[in-house]
Amino acid sequence: MRQKAKELLESGEVKVVIGYGQGSAPFKSTPIFIEKPEDAHKLIWNPTCVNNLTVYLRDACRQGKAAIVVKPCDARSIIELIRENQIERDDVVILAMSCPGVLNLDALAEIDLADVKSVEWHQSGIAIKTNAGETIIPSEKAFASKCLSCELAESPIADKKFGEPIERHPIRSKYADIEELEKMLPKERRAYWARQFARCIRCYACRSVCPGCYCKECFTDKPCQLWVLRSTDVESNWFFHFSRAMHTAGRCIACGECERVCPMGIPLMRLNQKMRKEVREMFGEEAGTNPEAPPTLGTFDLKNDPDPCSE
Ligand code: SF4
Ligand code: SF4
Ligand code: SF4
Repeated sequence: MRQKAKELLESGEVKVVIGYGQGSAPFKSTPIFIEKPEDAHKLIWNPTCVNNLTVYLRDACRQGKAAIVVKPCDARSIIELIRENQIERDDVVILAMSCPGVLNLDALAEIDLADVKSVEWHQSGIAIKTNAGETIIPSEKAFASKCLSCELAESPIADKKFGEPIERHPIRSKYADIEELEKMLPKERRAYWARQFARCIRCYACRSVCPGCYCKECFTDKPCQLWVLRSTDVESNWFFHFSRAMHTAGRCIACGECERVCPMGIPLMRLNQKMRKEVREMFGEEAGTNPEAPPTLGTFDLKNDPDPCSE
């Protein structure tokens, strides 16, 4: 992958390679933007490569053709960005990695973080090397929850693939987290979400990290709007979250980034997975699977969906 990135920059085919670099500690990576071929060695690929880097793609493509390192789940965001005319397919070179799963940082709770030397994939999970030796954390504990239900053997869109396709054996249903919610009465569900949204500090980290939240100006930032107050309260928080869920419906690819970055631990993926399930049941498709299909909720077909106002 480093060699390919170097060649792309040397030939001038791309202006930048967006990838993962070493973070502030061995158990962290950070997004990096490589513009010089001699810097391609800074790219890394290991279980700490958690971020969905496609959130940077629109801005990068405005400066010229860009290459990007993606996991199979993140590649689905590229399909959505193409479908929604946010980027052109020809403006991006997709370097698609084979991915066994990414690190769930909570899995390191019992390890002295100052002592961690490296984090690597292991056949039964993730291997953490410390001064004291090697600890193998089993897959069901080591990997992010989205990885436990991952069905993607390889990237659904790519220019160059690295590594072999992964044989997947999901150990949980992708809708496992919403089964309990679906059993609740509407008033119980409402109370559940009111409790969750009461904790939201409206830092908007969930919005900033989402590749599907790409409006130039979010409606919540418009000075004249009165739906979402500047101060936090349950009603305004509620309005923000349900509007965001509606706006990302049909384009949310369940990368889990919004939930991962939430400082208040709000279970946003329950909302996202419910919306994905509804969209699948109503329209028969899931975001990020078909680059040729028109945007699910951005298409209006008068033949199949007649406008009663015109009658
Ligand atoms: S969901 Fe699948 S592709 Fe995405 S990080 Fe987990 S294992 Fe990798
Ligand atoms: S990241 Fe969490 S706390 Fe911040 S706005 Fe989103 S839900 Fe609220
Ligand atoms: S709403 Fe969350 S899970 Fe869905 S695409 Fe955005 S960041 Fe990813």
